[in-house]
Amino acid sequence: MPLNVEKVKYPLAAPATLPDVHDFASWLLAPAHRIPPKPTRPGLQAVLFDLDGVLVDTAAFHYHAWKHLADELTLPFDENLNRSFRGVPRMACLDLLLGEHARYFAIEEKTVLAERKNGYYLDQVRTLRPEDAAPGARDLLTELRAAGVRTAVVSASKNARLVLDLLRLADAFDTVVDGGDVTRGKPDPQCFLKAAATLRTAPQRCLVIEDGEAGIRAARAADMPTVGIAPVRGAQRSVGGLTDLSLPFLDAPYATP
Ligand SMILES: [Mg+2]
Repeated sequence: MPLNVEKVKYPLAAPATLPDVHDFASWLLAPAHRIPPKPTRPGLQAVLFDLDGVLVDTAAFHYHAWKHLADELTLPFDENLNRSFRGVPRMACLDLLLGEHARYFAIEEKTVLAERKNGYYLDQVRTLRPEDAAPGARDLLTELRAAGVRTAVVSASKNARLVLDLLRLADAFDTVVDGGDVTRGKPDPQCFLKAAATLRTAPQRCLVIEDGEAGIRAARAADMPTVGIAPVRGAQRSVGGLTDLSLPFLDAPYATP
């Protein structure tokens, strides 16, 4: 029987067991569409924001979650130890909490403990609302994006996307690099370099806003200028909060004399 050309002409109804040809094409092409063109803006091209302590203050959530776990383990925990946890991956924090006891725990036991702490933390995170975003965050992001500056969140937290959704800030960023996207946490520069590569910007054209020393060290190792929120050791410039920041301030290191 001759082939009925009309029948096989587009649009072709695909059998139910095969993916729709249009779905397949969009799946295949979507990543390519998501790669942005190289930025042409002179000077600053991208701002990489830390999440905790910069865009939202969840420090108290972390403190109470670690304190809850420490109390259960009858281990000491205070503000000083909590401060050293800033920007450090969860498992590394757990080792700091366990101290000399850490070597007696199997990795599986540590995983259970870290998940337990995360559960306490998430109970509090779920109460976040859009108005909990740091003052000035929305205005600054609007100003940056209107000027063609790309934006990213670079956080050690594996809950970064959830937090951004709850704050209704997810659409304000071109990309998110969180704890699940990297193999080495801050102070390793991997997370910042990954964000720069996704945004197609040179590291020297990115600027990092951080509140943690580990994050500042990671940014410096990635060859990126830094702004500390509140005084942070190693930051090239420091401000009290996002309300003190504007595009001219952030652009200043790149301005030609
Ligand atoms: Mg932080």
